[in-house]
Amino acid sequence: MSEFRYCKLTKEWTLFAPERLKRPKGLNNKKEVYLGEIMHEKCPFDLGKEEFTPHEITRISQDGKWKCRVVPNLYNVLSIEAPLQSTRDSFFEKASGFGAHEVVIETPNHDKQIWDYDYNDLINYFLILQERVVNLKKDDRLAYLSVFKNQGEEAGASMSHSHSQIIGLPFLPKKIKENFEYQKEYFKAHNRALFDDILYEELAYGKNIIAQNSEFVLYCPYASSFAFEVKIVSKKRLSSLSEFTKSDLSALCDITKEYFSKFYAALGDVAFNMIINNAPYKDYNEETKNYFRFNIEIKPRIYKEAGFEQNTDIKINVVLPETATKIYKESR
Ligand SMILES: [Zn+2]
Repeated sequence: MSEFRYCKLTKEWTLFAPERLKRPKGLNNKKEVYLGEIMHEKCPFDLGKEEFTPHEITRISQDGKWKCRVVPNLYNVLSIEAPLQSTRDSFFEKASGFGAHEVVIETPNHDKQIWDYDYNDLINYFLILQERVVNLKKDDRLAYLSVFKNQGEEAGASMSHSHSQIIGLPFLPKKIKENFEYQKEYFKAHNRALFDDILYEELAYGKNIIAQNSEFVLYCPYASSFAFEVKIVSKKRLSSLSEFTKSDLSALCDITKEYFSKFYAALGDVAFNMIINNAPYKDYNEETKNYFRFNIEIKPRIYKEAGFEQNTDIKINVVLPETATKIYKESR
């Protein structure tokens, strides 16, 4: 079973999950096994291979066939069945590996990537994410839900079949907690959401805006950490997918689809991480909408991080966001 260990020096938790070594791409496996391509015929995420995944949590079907399904992660780092407990002696503090770890199989088609998705594929994807955000919220032991997609080996994916992951944590990670508190304080001081002010400034500056519609802005942040990094931010008072109406989801699909067609045209099949930021479950209420905005971050992994970044947390970005914006705008 996995466990969290607390570091007194950094005040951060590390999750130890030795079971993960058994994943398709283990430490000792050769690169050819990467993404399970050798096992392509046995890909457990394909249509007709449902028996090779753990029991299904939910699915979206059309014309009698599934289009999108959620299953527990076979190589889970956390378990919803683990008891929620922590222990502490004079030196060390640890906690059980309680939490949720799910896989969203975004399409039954092995060869379809997110830049190939049509509107219907994207709606199904966001609808199923919304359902999980709403349902896991009912478990009041969970404080935070991390929703992300790793695409490509450089981004940490171990399967090439398009998928996302959901990890539910019993506490707020330090980074999330600090950033959330900061946004709360900002609202107290200015009576405006920090994200609203950032959007106002980016829109006034203009050079980093790739596209926008009535509900979302797509832009390369002024101080992007990664080359070609983008954010999709809600202009409306939406703090979580759980609050989205059908038309909000529709506007989100439109801008996501527009982005990924530009992504593929500009960069091709490069690895990326996509993080879908919803307000934490902990302390969530009507007030949350005042200061937090739903947003998506997409970070292409073209250049590698090294020692300096690990030492200082300062990222070295070799592409200015205004340059990236220009390239994205010209790509379609
Ligand atoms: Zn597959």
